Amino acid sequence: MKAAVLDGVGAKFQVREVEIDKPKSGELLVKVVASGLCASDLNAIDGKRKLVPFPAVIGHEAAGVVVEVGIESVGFSPGDHVIMSIVPNCRTCSYCMSGRPNYCSTAGNAMAAGGLFDGTSRLSYEGTRINHFLTVASFAEYVVVPASGAVVIPDEMPLDRAALISCAVLTGYGAVVNTAKVKAGSRVAVFGCGGVGLNIIQGARIAGAKTIIAIDITSEKLELARKVGATHTINASSTDPVTEVKKICGGVDYAFEALGLEATIQQAWGSVDVDGGLILVGLLKNGATLTLDADPFVNEQWITGCYFGSANLKKDVPKLIESYLNAHLFLDELISEQIDLDGLDLAFNRLRAGEGARNVLVFD
Ligand SMILES: [Zn+2]
Ligand SMILES: [Zn+2]
Repeated sequence: MKAAVLDGVGAKFQVREVEIDKPKSGELLVKVVASGLCASDLNAIDGKRKLVPFPAVIGHEAAGVVVEVGIESVGFSPGDHVIMSIVPNCRTCSYCMSGRPNYCSTAGNAMAAGGLFDGTSRLSYEGTRINHFLTVASFAEYVVVPASGAVVIPDEMPLDRAALISCAVLTGYGAVVNTAKVKAGSRVAVFGCGGVGLNIIQGARIAGAKTIIAIDITSEKLELARKVGATHTINASSTDPVTEVKKICGGVDYAFEALGLEATIQQAWGSVDVDGGLILVGLLKNGATLTLDADPFVNEQWITGCYFGSANLKKDVPKLIESYLNAHLFLDELISEQIDLDGLDLAFNRLRAGEGARNVLVFD
């Protein structure tokens, strides 16, 4: 099968004929139909975060059709449409046993080693092991993934839209609904309107937030932010966002930071009103530290981390798909380009430059 292999940090993608093994116990072989390009892929390509040993096939925001079901992969049949996520779980580690499968240590160890749950890879090129990115590795015609990270979706759900749900939407919407539990009528600010930020905005709209302020440095993204639910926009390239937020509503109950940058985290923290909180959704560089004004803690202001929108796959995915099919969740607007395997390098250049919304790799 054809796959885009990345040989190291900063390398260009090489489209190669990669061997893929059959699925083992608890795994699925899936024909990839669509795979969104996410900032986490870029973090691996640019070395902002150490996410996978190289050479590797990256890509993780994926949807496709099940081709073959490994033994003990209960609940799946060939032909099923599925989305694949970066939160598979082993059901036996201490995190899984205590009801926190998103922190599954078996999955974490597998990802760090670039393998699946048994540590081995199903991918090779001319006899050399190729690693799996975050157990998904979807910049390829086929993937073998842990069944526990996949969810069957209805056939009427378009697979390129479904792919976005598997990372950007679960993360953004989940940050609002699961992590922060945003209350109806509240004031929200979102710093960074990329794939995740736009989904924080629409999550806030669906949660009934009264004021939703989108902050970015490109007018193109701020326009998109309006389309998915922002009530106000601030172009931070020409004005101080903290001053503007205070002018609009005196400060927010929830400030979401979706860029993973210290400067925007400080701005987000500065925008929070008494009793409000900062939710760190963007991932910082490995080893990064933050300096923040400590005075607001007197006003019971709080800060929390967020991983994958504290998502519950089995509960959230069906709800989000129903929401899209009922025209409450906007996904069509979020796809700016469809590309093929040869277009990955250019599409990641667009993502680096902050152009457009989601680029999605699609296969015929
Ligand atoms: Zn992602
Ligand atoms: Zn586990």
